[in-house]
Amino acid sequence: MDNRVNILGVYVDMVSIEEASEKIVSFLGEKGLHKVYTPNSEIIMAAYKDEAFRNLLNNAELLTADGIGVVYASKILGKPISERAAGYDIACEVLGRIKGTEHKLFLFGGRPGVAEQAERELLKRYPGLKIAGCRNGYFKPEDEPSIVKQINDSGADLLFVCLGAPKQEQWISRHADELSARVAMGIGGSLDVFAGTAERAPKFFCDHGIEWLYRLSKQPSRAGRMLALPKFGFTVLLKGRKYKQD
Ligand code: UDP
Repeated sequence: MDNRVNILGVYVDMVSIEEASEKIVSFLGEKGLHKVYTPNSEIIMAAYKDEAFRNLLNNAELLTADGIGVVYASKILGKPISERAAGYDIACEVLGRIKGTEHKLFLFGGRPGVAEQAERELLKRYPGLKIAGCRNGYFKPEDEPSIVKQINDSGADLLFVCLGAPKQEQWISRHADELSARVAMGIGGSLDVFAGTAERAPKFFCDHGIEWLYRLSKQPSRAGRMLALPKFGFTVLLKGRKYKQD
């Protein structure tokens, strides 16, 4: 448990982007599905309030700190994580490492056409990358078995699931035993960024821990969701030290 920090009951791995991607590449060489989630403060607050969701997150093989709130929380709790390890950044690093190898990627999520557009952009950006298939992220429960079959039939060993949280974590967990991929990563809006249908915050905002401010200026409707950040900060300050670090 040494290399993990217990943040309100969620065990977050103390890894950098580089370390996380190294682990993921090594997971690709191991049997069974490895679940990778990248919780931000909003997700950790949801897990704090919901034991079933907390257990679902803790059942992942790798949980990285997506968001400056989670990084600060780890510092407050005396087990500092060196940097924010967002799903998008980890995904880029992993793709850079597996391009030109036999590993195959499947893109699942986003509005119709987004995964295909992301595929085109990724093939330009990572020459030699093998993409086994795409599927948009809008479906009915009865479509799920055929989605799992499509992913398995593609022969992909790496799966990006981009349905937004907590949908993507729940989807991966629900189908973990049926998926033949070695790694499934829940990485939110990353396909939109790869496809160019959404922009990432400029580097300045990311470097200064104020990406949330940029996103708020672009999508003021997120304001309600963003209240989770100060709530999370207060909860960690008030309750965080009661959780055992081992
Ligand atoms: N999405 C999806 N299926 C759904 C709901 C959402 O594929 O039923 C996609 C949506 O198109 C977007 C991503 O999930 O590409 C969610 O992005 P967001 O930035 O909201 O993710 P979060 O901030 O929750 O990680």
